[in-house]
Parts: sequence; structure tokens; C-alpha cells
Amino acid sequence: MDKELISPSYGRFYPLVVKSGKGSIITDMDGNEYIDFNSGLVCMNVGHCHPKVVSAVQRQAEKLLHYSFTDFYYEEAEDLAQTFTEITPGHFRKKIYYGNSGAEAIEAAMKVARWHSKRPRYMAFIGGFHGRTFGSLSLTGSKPVQRRRFAPLLPEVTHVPFANCYRCPFKMTYPECGMYCVDFIEDMYFKKFLPPEEVAALFYEPIQGEGGYVVPPEDYFLRVKKLMDKYGILMVADEVQSGMGRTGKWFASEHFKIQPDILCTSKAVASGLPLGVTVARSELMDWEKGSHASTFGGNPVCCAAANAVIEIIKEEDLLAGAEKKGKYVMKRMEELQENCEMIGDVRGKGLMIGVELVKNRKTKEAAKHEAEEVMIRSWRKGVAVITSGNSTIRIAPPLNTPKELLEKGLDIIEESLKAVNKEL
Ligand code: PLP
Repeated sequence: MDKELISPSYGRFYPLVVKSGKGSIITDMDGNEYIDFNSGLVCMNVGHCHPKVVSAVQRQAEKLLHYSFTDFYYEEAEDLAQTFTEITPGHFRKKIYYGNSGAEAIEAAMKVARWHSKRPRYMAFIGGFHGRTFGSLSLTGSKPVQRRRFAPLLPEVTHVPFANCYRCPFKMTYPECGMYCVDFIEDMYFKKFLPPEEVAALFYEPIQGEGGYVVPPEDYFLRVKKLMDKYGILMVADEVQSGMGRTGKWFASEHFKIQPDILCTSKAVASGLPLGVTVARSELMDWEKGSHASTFGGNPVCCAAANAVIEIIKEEDLLAGAEKKGKYVMKRMEELQENCEMIGDVRGKGLMIGVELVKNRKTKEAAKHEAEEVMIRSWRKGVAVITSGNSTIRIAPPLNTPKELLEKGLDIIEESLKAVNKEL
């Protein structure tokens, strides 16, 4: 039926038809159970069908499903906005815009940055992923298939190198490199062809998600921010994937000690219900009445779910939990790396962890087929895990996954890694 009826553009990792989910376990049509190591594409940070989320949704659904926040008001959306001003980085006044997805959160940031600054251009990083609508796709730079035959995209978007230290575009080594990649932006872009005073904003993922769970050095974004500040360019954090506690902080930008001017989040916000959130410094959101809105953005059921998610993260101390469990996963993967030639790099923060596979540690040739094989074998043995980038296994279970399940899932992934490594 799927082949006959559904657009073939969807990615689809393996033929898993999900029927139900509870906590960190999902069940397929045949009743097989899987430990969810990808949290439904990194959306289920508090686990599947958390009872508090379910009852918040039920309560709201009985009261009101929709009226439209574009022209009227909802209490749930106002409450959520208040909370967002508190949990996002920066002790300054903020304003919130609601859309329905990550891409819409990015679109809003693009438009408000241009509106406020009156500057036409944008910058983004090579390897970044910001969505698939025309505006957000223009910022995306992670895989050609995402852009092929969709040109022309938005003009005036310039991509600059990211601090991907495992695969440094300049073949240098941190910290001896002195973060040449940041100087490069000034010397080779701003001084050669990109007038910085025309750039409204630089969009960044603190940890690149779809690009392969790439974690830059901790002092990297401070250097980038200093450069952007010099030219009055806004910093927009795309925390669609890295936000909502995933990395052991509310937002991953905190690891890098920077406070973005605008922050976008989505995915895990409403535990699987569609909601995009764009948080900006108050003074930036000065666009006029009617200039931007969306019929469903800020839907009261989604906002009720999001308010519950935030409460759960606080009550269950999931930020500390993600950090602790993440350290455990990192340690196990690093130990495995010692005897598993195929593991080129292990990196991550909290429970956003990437294990990059290579055919050869010296040449670092991506082990794409092998990564897919590890993914499929793990799934067959009961762990729903997926890849990102070229050959990175991404480990991103719900933040409240019990330790025994985490261990069991890791055992299965380890087993698959060892078996595929032997065959390499
Ligand atoms: N930004 C990042 C970092 C993402 O990971 C994604 C989705 O994977 C998006 C934006 C786009 O979000 P959506 O698919 O909800 O439009």
C-alpha cells in the first residue's frame, strides 16, 4: 500500500510499522517490541505516551481543539511562552512566535532577522540541516539529495565551514589550529566577497544533527559570536534537535556558553505533537501586525502537551539524567572503540551521541554500508536505531530510559558493531 499510495520522497530506514509506544519501547504491527534509541526522530525526550502528557492532551482536547492563535488568544500558549522565556539561555526580555514544525520555526527566524535588521543576506554552516521548506532548505547544507532539482533556492545564503574537527576541512588539528576556520570566515568571506554589513543572521546548530552528530570544541561558538558581534550579525540557534534537554542542558548552546539572539526549537517540545517555537530577544521581534502567522501555530493541545513536557523534565530531573546516562553511553562506546577498528570517532553531549564508522582509521573513508548494516542488524535484534551524516550511528534514546533498557540496547548495538567489524 505504501508503495502505491505514499510519496516516495520519504527517507525510510527499515520497514518498521509502528503501532504503539510506551516509555522507551515501541511495538510494531506484528507485536514485536523494540527499545527506541532514536526517540521517534529525536522527538520523544520524555518517552512515548508519558501519562502526564497524555492526560494534558486529553484534558485540553475535551475543552478546545482549535480556534486560531493568529487572530485570537489561548491561555496555554501564553503560559508556555512565559516558561520559554525562563528556560532558554539569556537573562534578557524575550518574545515568542509559534509555528508547527522545525522548518517553520526557522522560517520565522529568517523573516524576523531580515525584518529587524533590514539586511538581505544569511549565513549558515556546511553540514547543517535546517529543514526542507524553500527558506530553510536554502540554509540546509548536509546532503545533495535534499537540494537536487529544487533550485533556485533563496538567493544570498552563504555557507561557511563548520568546526568538524574529526574531518577538518583544512586538515588541521585542534587546538593547534587556533581555530583557523573562524579566521577563514573573516579573511576569505567578509574581506573577499560577502559584505558583512548585509548579513542579517548566521544560523547554527550547536551540535550538527542530520550532518552526523558533529560536536565542535567548547570554545568555538564564543569565537564565532565575537566575529558576528563585530559586524552586527545576529546568531540564530537551531535547537530543533539539540534542545529540550537532549544534551543534558535545556539547550545545547549552553554548553558553549553563548546566548543566541534568536533560538528555534521543535521536535521534542510537545512530545510528538507538531509545534515549532521561535524565541527572540524582545527588541528583535518588532515586526508589524499581520506580517507573519500560521493558522495552527500555537495550537492549544500542542501547547498543553509542551507545558506537560517541561514539567516532566523538571520533575524527573531529566537534564541531570541525560548527562549521567550520556556519560555511561560514551564510556561504553569509547571502550568498544579500542578493539573495534571500524569505530573512527565517538562524540556527543548528554544523550545526543554519534558513533562514526570508517573503513580505515587512517584514510577515514566513511563506512556507509557498514553503518547501515549495524542499524539493520540492531533493529532485527530489537533496537530501533538510525544513522545520520554519512556513516554515523546516532544514539538518542528518551532521556528517562531506564538503565537496564539502556544497557540492553547498548549490548545489542555492540554485538552488531562487533559482527560487522569482523566482516570488514
Ligand atoms: N533543524 C534541525 C536541526 C533538524 O534536525 C530538523 C529536522 O530534522 C529541522 C530543522 C526541520 O524540522 P521539521 O522536520 O520539523 O521541519
